[in-house]
Amino acid sequence: MDPIRFTSTNGQAPVVDFRNALLTGQAPDRGLYLPERFPTLATAERAAFAARPYPEIAFQVLRPYMQGVVTEETLAACCQAAYDFEVPLEPVYEGVRVLRLDRGPTASFKDFAARLMARLMGLFVQATGRTLTILTATSGDTGSAVASAFHQVAGIRVLVLFPQREVSERQRRQMTTLRGNIRTLAVEGKFDDCQALVKRAFADPELSHLTLSSANSINIGRLLPQAVYYFYAAARVAAPDEPVFFAVPSGNFGNMMGAVVARRMGLPMARLVVPVNGNDEFPRFLASRVYRKIEPSRACLSNAMNVGHPSNLARLVALYGGYLDETGALHRAPDLAAMRRDLFSTSVSDERTRETIRSAWQSHRLLLEPHGAVGWRGFLDFLDAQPLAGRPGVVLETAHPAKFPEEIQALLGFTPEVPAALAALDNLAEDYDRLPVDYAEFRDYLLQTASCR
Ligand SMILES: *Cc1c(COP(=O)(O)O)cnc(C)c1O
Repeated sequence: MDPIRFTSTNGQAPVVDFRNALLTGQAPDRGLYLPERFPTLATAERAAFAARPYPEIAFQVLRPYMQGVVTEETLAACCQAAYDFEVPLEPVYEGVRVLRLDRGPTASFKDFAARLMARLMGLFVQATGRTLTILTATSGDTGSAVASAFHQVAGIRVLVLFPQREVSERQRRQMTTLRGNIRTLAVEGKFDDCQALVKRAFADPELSHLTLSSANSINIGRLLPQAVYYFYAAARVAAPDEPVFFAVPSGNFGNMMGAVVARRMGLPMARLVVPVNGNDEFPRFLASRVYRKIEPSRACLSNAMNVGHPSNLARLVALYGGYLDETGALHRAPDLAAMRRDLFSTSVSDERTRETIRSAWQSHRLLLEPHGAVGWRGFLDFLDAQPLAGRPGVVLETAHPAKFPEEIQALLGFTPEVPAALAALDNLAEDYDRLPVDYAEFRDYLLQTASCR
């Protein structure tokens, strides 16, 4: 079969291969890349996943997208190296489990995409002999996952922008203690301000001589690896043709888009539950057909989900036949009836998030942090409307509870055990620069730092 090519959601950019889509991040027309078709995995192939380790499943799921650009041997080796940690499925009650995606080096699910992407980008860039600058805006966990994954990758330097007051101390330390090819910038604003600065830099002709790329969830390289764990979990909890209910706590919608991709690749899936925090633009859109981004985004407890206009929504809308541009303008409505059949979304307030951390621990000895608690609560809301009737359900926990020690201590009266990788950070020196929300200053900073290494 021909290699899969990638098209932009804005429809004005040339069609490219995986290598190109990965290196550019955002398409030149400011749209997001999507594969022009989704390869399907046969039932027998998915059935065999039940006994396969994670890196092998990743290889099988991703292989069709990379045909012609990465050899099978290289891809297999990248998957082995990227996924060298556990992916536990914790039984909670009856057929319901929590998929813990928090055992990577930075203790968030973002390690899954970032670690594979860094290895592939490193390969492509080293082949060109140039230096690539990765600009990334973070609401907390992207920055640390990206910084950790790219640390010491030859040919690549990374600049991470984070909202000064919206990340926890531990999240900040995960980014600011690496040094070397990793630079961090504290922006006196919100996540959306960081994201807007990055987006403008990409479109700026005065910066076109710098080879810029993004590692945000807009990059297709972030999206595809996030389809893998749905196959992994389904094979371990259900028969190959049995639909699974997944619940995915969501912010920028990259994680839930991984589920949507997995479904398009033939994974049987029941309603996909997409809980959000107080940034409730998506459940409102599903209910009302009117899309209104939230500006500025609301600062909630689950800080990595404080997104008032999820970039990946453009991809979701595109897959349902609509057209949403990068500013949030809906040019063509998607098939909302189909979306409502496939998706259930609900908003979970901070108060209910806290109450859920308490009740999950009291009822099930299930230890959740704020993001996972939004996911769990959303799943329970969904069950109120539609009982599982014995079918398997999987709720994603996207961060390690030890990243939120104060909150857990206040709610449960103990401090979660800290994984070794996080504990080590407390003794390392930090290094970062500060910047107001001002594009001209940001551009100067980029130009000045581009020449030093
Ligand atoms: C980034 C993040 C999310 C949100 O994921 P999206 O792909 O942006 O929807 C949820 N939980 C944690 C811990 C995160 O870091």
